[in-house]
Amino acid sequence: MDVTSFWLAGRPATGDETFSVTNPYDGRVVGEVAVPTEAQVEEAVAAADAVRAQAAALPVHVRAEALAHVSRRLAERSEEIARLITAENGKPLLWARAEVNRAVSVFRFAAEEARRWSPTTQRLDTDPGGAGRLAYVSRVPKGPVLGIAPFNFPLNLTAHKVAPAIAVGAPIVVKPAPATPLSALVLGEILAETDLPAGMVSVLPVPNDRAPALVDDPRLPVVSFTGSVPVGWAIRERAPRKHVTLELGGNAAAVVLADADLDWAATRIGLFSNYQAGQSCIAVQRVYVDRGVYEAFVPKLVEAVGSLVTGDPWDGATQVGPLVSTDAAERVESWVNEAVAAGAKVLTGGTRDGAVYAPTVLADVPADAKVLREEVFGPVLVVQPVDGVDEAFAQVNDSSFGLQAGVFTRSLDVAFRAHRELNVGGVIIGDVPSYRADQMPYGGVKDSGVGREGLHSAMSDYTEEKVMVLTGI
Ligand code: NAD
Repeated sequence: MDVTSFWLAGRPATGDETFSVTNPYDGRVVGEVAVPTEAQVEEAVAAADAVRAQAAALPVHVRAEALAHVSRRLAERSEEIARLITAENGKPLLWARAEVNRAVSVFRFAAEEARRWSPTTQRLDTDPGGAGRLAYVSRVPKGPVLGIAPFNFPLNLTAHKVAPAIAVGAPIVVKPAPATPLSALVLGEILAETDLPAGMVSVLPVPNDRAPALVDDPRLPVVSFTGSVPVGWAIRERAPRKHVTLELGGNAAAVVLADADLDWAATRIGLFSNYQAGQSCIAVQRVYVDRGVYEAFVPKLVEAVGSLVTGDPWDGATQVGPLVSTDAAERVESWVNEAVAAGAKVLTGGTRDGAVYAPTVLADVPADAKVLREEVFGPVLVVQPVDGVDEAFAQVNDSSFGLQAGVFTRSLDVAFRAHRELNVGGVIIGDVPSYRADQMPYGGVKDSGVGREGLHSAMSDYTEEKVMVLTGI
């Protein structure tokens, strides 16, 4: 098998070693990837540092055209890249194709946002001391960004870090997850086709034990991390003087109130507790249903979950594929078994075949069960009755996480109350919490992280304001 190069300051390179990427569904080796040596990592970081002034001074049309080029090329190569994502991650083609489409739109939107990104002015003559003065305020990049991405959306979560960096003129060094580097490396290849300065982008599949050295490097003052809770918070502690954004885990909840459209709610929750085999930070893990509609809702939910097409990710009809590894599926299985031993009832699912865990709904789950308290990151949903809005919101908030929540209601009052009272980064009314758009800020509170992504928020994060005061005008 040919060795896949990594991207060192805009050119392909190989090191002394390689590692294999395997498909979780059938265990087939789908890629052999070159590992950068320490000297090559040093070269990439030094190159990013060396071009920081040049990158910041790039005309906007050059940055926007580079972003638009990436968007076009991802679209042209979409089927090939979707198949690569299925190969490395095991997610069904259905979701892999959706992921590539999202990345196409992330880069397209970033090209537009780069053009809208303009300095502002502030009148200073609001006080006598400011007479004849005007403040000119621009945002300048803080410096090269270190982008660290997880396995579950290997292309799109990399796009969420790279696109805003290019939009503001900041170099970026990307570290993909070891299980899923292939699609990020194609992105590196496409970025190398642009007119951006060579040192502006590197994609380095360094092993986890060498990642802390990148976190420590003072030439990378911004760290944008998406991944698990312990790794994320350890990075923040390790780099107190850096600007660190953490997009971490969750155990997202949906609330179904008595006025909801129960068929719509059941279909949406059924699908979005299981898409990506539940390996999404905003997959629905807990659903709180008003007691008045609980009996009517649960059979609809069980039907929606039980009828999902599960298994072979290469079959275009499959909705739920394998988890990222058999180990991950075994962990989910053990958490469900623990809950069942403590009294939980399996309404559907509860079985495992290799890395595929069947979409599962649990009821009567004890309050301290891992499937409720921790992030399952698998196709498991816990359903519970509640007495109205007060109890529903209290249950949603009874979590160490706080990423997003969904509330199925038709009441505008309840919607605003949810926005006020739910301790999460985002509330989705009339749908599942599993919704993210590039225009909106996205991120969590509590253990789920700090800072926000979304194009505009990330562009703000990667830059800081710089003022010039004009006198005598
Ligand atoms: P992970 O924390 O194991 O790995 C994430 C990345 O960190 C990988 O690139 C990994 O190689 C790297 N890494 C590991 N150890 C490191 C270290 N010591 N220093 C620096 N980098 C290190 O997470 P994962 O298993 O790949 O992803 C799953 C997690 O990601 C889940 O918890 C999920 O909720 C979370 N996630 C969050 C969001 C969000 O936007 N909030 C989105 C997707 C996934």
